[in-house]
Amino acid sequence: MSDRVDRLTPLIEEAGIDLLIVGDLVNVRYLTGFGGSNGLVLVGPRTRLFVSDFRYTERARGEVDSSFERVTATQDLVEGLPDLVGDGAGRLGFDDAHTSVKAHAKLAEVLAGHELVAAGGLVERLRAVKEPAEVDRIAAAAQLADEAFGALLERGLIGRTEAEIATALEFDMRARGAEGASFSPIVATGPNGAQPHASPGDVAVSEGDLIVIDWGALVDGYCSDCTRTLAAGQPDGAARDAYELVLAAEEAGLAAVRAGAAGRDVDAVARELIEQGGHGEHFGHGLGHGVGLEIHEGPTLSRRSEDTLQTGNVVTVEPGVYLPGRFGIRIEDLVVVEQDGVRTLTGVDKQLTVCD
Ligand code: ZN
Ligand code: ZN
Repeated sequence: MSDRVDRLTPLIEEAGIDLLIVGDLVNVRYLTGFGGSNGLVLVGPRTRLFVSDFRYTERARGEVDSSFERVTATQDLVEGLPDLVGDGAGRLGFDDAHTSVKAHAKLAEVLAGHELVAAGGLVERLRAVKEPAEVDRIAAAAQLADEAFGALLERGLIGRTEAEIATALEFDMRARGAEGASFSPIVATGPNGAQPHASPGDVAVSEGDLIVIDWGALVDGYCSDCTRTLAAGQPDGAARDAYELVLAAEEAGLAAVRAGAAGRDVDAVARELIEQGGHGEHFGHGLGHGVGLEIHEGPTLSRRSEDTLQTGNVVTVEPGVYLPGRFGIRIEDLVVVEQDGVRTLTGVDKQLTVCD
């Protein structure tokens, strides 16, 4: 874990700051291994400090990487910062992406005399490129989620409500050893599928519906993410055509993913196909996102993305077509970016599956 801090230090120097204050708990966990709910890290060229309160002294001893000096402070960790920062550090970087206006005011008050510099996203830049052990954990989460989905289909979907199906998936993933779902599963049947982020309700799947299921597992702290759209009984011609269009866009998107590709260009490859198929206005979200400790992280595949893909990124490719009042279709795979293409972590079949 100390090599993560080694990679962070040059970014801190590049940003022209003396000390970076890391308060976001996911970033704290990434840098130190600490999984508790109150922790803060200070990193500088010669500083590696982990701060928590007395409740976590024991836990920190077991979890926090030994390259960090561990300090126990009062529960309000920001109050204790002046003593820890000292006078030598003039420019202090703080995470502007995760700091509320209120928290910033407090920082400025407590650290009066220091210059606070917005330095959000530095740890996230590291997190976007996964180490092999991280990829293994995401792959394990994806495989577990695949297995739960297989078991779900064996029991059939027609007659079960969206909420029942979502709960069954979540329960099954836990039973197979996941810490939980990586997010609340989306199950949307028939016209509900036209809302990309529908909450599962008491509508039952009926014959002729398309059902969008978007789910993932959390294993060893890492997330997986996958979407499949199924048909309950034989779908009509329009639904089939739209499905084939989304599938073609998804495969074209996947084929465009490789190290060096721009997130915007990969999005465009899939989007153009959907536009040519006459459904451009029915695909209103980005093509994909990074996945790791969090379900949504960098890099981003979208029209506005400024990211360039790198070997070791783990991203989703998930085009969709949403026809209000009729149905929705989304197909999402999770892949590791490699030099010349991708390695797909999702194992569930993508051809239109007719279930009962
Ligand atoms: Zn998803
Ligand atoms: Zn996703």
